[in-house]
Amino acid sequence: MSNSPGIKIAISSCLLGEKVRYDGTDKKLDILTRIPGDIITFIPVCPEVAIGMGIPRPPIQLVETSEGIQALQIDDPDKSFTEPLQAYGAKIANELKDIFGYIFKARSPSCGINSTPVFRSGEEHHKDAGLHAKQIMQQHPGLPIIEETTLTTLEQVQDFFSQVFKYSQQKHATDPDLHEKQQNQLNHYLMGVINSP
Ligand code: SF4
Repeated sequence: MSNSPGIKIAISSCLLGEKVRYDGTDKKLDILTRIPGDIITFIPVCPEVAIGMGIPRPPIQLVETSEGIQALQIDDPDKSFTEPLQAYGAKIANELKDIFGYIFKARSPSCGINSTPVFRSGEEHHKDAGLHAKQIMQQHPGLPIIEETTLTTLEQVQDFFSQVFKYSQQKHATDPDLHEKQQNQLNHYLMGVINSP
């Protein structure tokens, strides 16, 4: 096994098994958490904890207002987390210059990429991206991104990681052999997971 660092991918912390959700739970995605770190190095990011919302915390939702889409506390809509989430997303997007993919938690008002409900007058009106995810997408156009809900089959996982490896080769054409070796290791690993009893 190589000692070289794995290709860096940012991920919503709760998908790695960190108990950072509003209710103190996680949404661990087993298939990812067992990938060896010398193939893929995950960078966990939880914007809501990072801006000091705490665990547990009152849940928020996206609401369409006259000032645009806001992240408001569900049981107290006077409390807005819009600006801190946007500011943190912009900061992290700037800091994460060396990531080659981002796996986001679906439906989250912070982390969803196309599945997060936006409410108007108390009713779900349409779906949009979470406020943190939107900053990442704006500052990293072309970055392979995905929600965990479309990483449920071997084919989906392989397809996403092949996008990641391709993107990393475009950005850093320094050592294509290493990337090919890492991709082969990853495929080998994934086949082992799928075939294990
Ligand atoms: S979805 Fe995002 S904000 Fe919510 S717990 Fe997971 S990482 Fe934190």
